Amino acid sequence: MKKFNLLYSTLKLYEAVTKHIDIPPRIYQSLKKPERVLKVRLPVRMDDGSYKIFYGWRSQHCTWPGPAKGGIRYHNDVTEDEVIALSMLMTWKCGLMRLPYGGGKGGVAPAWDLLNHEEKQKMREIFPLGLSKAEKKRITDEYIEKIHPIIGPEKDVPAPDVNTGAEEMGWIMNKFSSIMGYTVPGVVTGKPLSLGGSLGRNKATGFGCFITILNALRFNDMTTDSHKKITATVQGFGNAGSVIASLLNKKGIKIIAVSDSKGGIFNKKGLNPDLVLQHKLTQGLGGTVSNFPDGEKITNEQLLTLKTDILVPAALEGVITSRNANKIKAKIIAEAANGPTSPEADAILQDNGVFVMPDILANAGGVVVSYFEWVQNHERYSWDLNKVNEELEKRMTYIFNEVMELTRKVKISTRTAAYIIGIKRIVQAGIDRGKAL
Ligand code: NAD
Repeated sequence: MKKFNLLYSTLKLYEAVTKHIDIPPRIYQSLKKPERVLKVRLPVRMDDGSYKIFYGWRSQHCTWPGPAKGGIRYHNDVTEDEVIALSMLMTWKCGLMRLPYGGGKGGVAPAWDLLNHEEKQKMREIFPLGLSKAEKKRITDEYIEKIHPIIGPEKDVPAPDVNTGAEEMGWIMNKFSSIMGYTVPGVVTGKPLSLGGSLGRNKATGFGCFITILNALRFNDMTTDSHKKITATVQGFGNAGSVIASLLNKKGIKIIAVSDSKGGIFNKKGLNPDLVLQHKLTQGLGGTVSNFPDGEKITNEQLLTLKTDILVPAALEGVITSRNANKIKAKIIAEAANGPTSPEADAILQDNGVFVMPDILANAGGVVVSYFEWVQNHERYSWDLNKVNEELEKRMTYIFNEVMELTRKVKISTRTAAYIIGIKRIVQAGIDRGKAL
């Protein structure tokens, strides 16, 4: 079986979508590649006194509309290709959401090529969930020291992604500020509130996805107060997935299964996501939902093919492929994760009439509120939570309607429509800068 390659599928999608767009050849070729990719070596002292080497990457796919914007991921499987693909997706997402940004992405992974078989096994236990806080901070400081020349509020603004959150963003702001010699809140978003973070940012990806799901239900005439409860399954119970599950549950939607990297649980009567989260958190770092007592153990693969109304992939890319797409029974898929569906699977889902809310729309709440945070940092002013959520909801719904309108008008998939809108805005920025000549 061919291994899923996010860069390959992202480029394939770009080629397919740009067939619908009048795009100058120079711009078409340029956007196939990132503007800049920096790979850095991170030698880090571990708590036991040993030194380990990690690699860090930062890819800036495009900065035509403004600074690059995108998260930083700490994960064993991070590769340069993955970081490039994710930065490209960020470009289209910022275009779709009308943000004055291009796309960027960062990642950190162990230097696997320096490790023997035994060391690799040990490293898998350490990185990233087995790291102490001090080790994680030393990795983060080293990473920022190495990439600081290319980031900054007007250059490239990182944010949280898989296995990073407000704490790491606070460290990044601190390290960058100490290098610059003054406090620079706008270098990163998703920071703690005490450092200029925005109210609502920690839940923004989940809240935005929740709004998109409600819009999709309305569009498909599926009401939440009907006799038979609407059901949902969520793969990945982290920052995005746990918030989505909790908000859906509060809206009266029955969450029948959730999972994380260690496996999942299923309960046809419904799970209480808040209790599941509590259960996970009480186990400390590396805690899991998979041993929650009030449910039946299932695998991540089984979760994807359960009979459900809504499926939310909220973990990693490439989980819906030609291997399992035909077995998916969900009516609506809301892609909280970036790139969860392969191009082959996407065609199958479309043939089967599944209503797909593509990643660059469904998970855009995070980058939209990151933008609000950056604006507040520039204004040296903070908005209240109502304003943040109202502005987010307004934008998510407006863009949802724009995507549905194009889908209807041109008779294309929701994914193609969202990508056309996103890519077109970036292309226009390129044309207006004279990049076509
Ligand atoms: P997170 O680290 O908070 O959570 C990730 C979750 O996925 C964890 O529960 C983890 O155990 C689980 N997971 C990891 N590998 C898995 C596997 N192989 N199978 C099943 N579950 C697995 O990360 P997050 O910030 O919630 O990000 C999740 C997805 O959402 C990613 O694709 C990310 O790019 C995307 N996203 C996040 C944000 C954000 O603001 N955090 C914004 C947009 C998109």
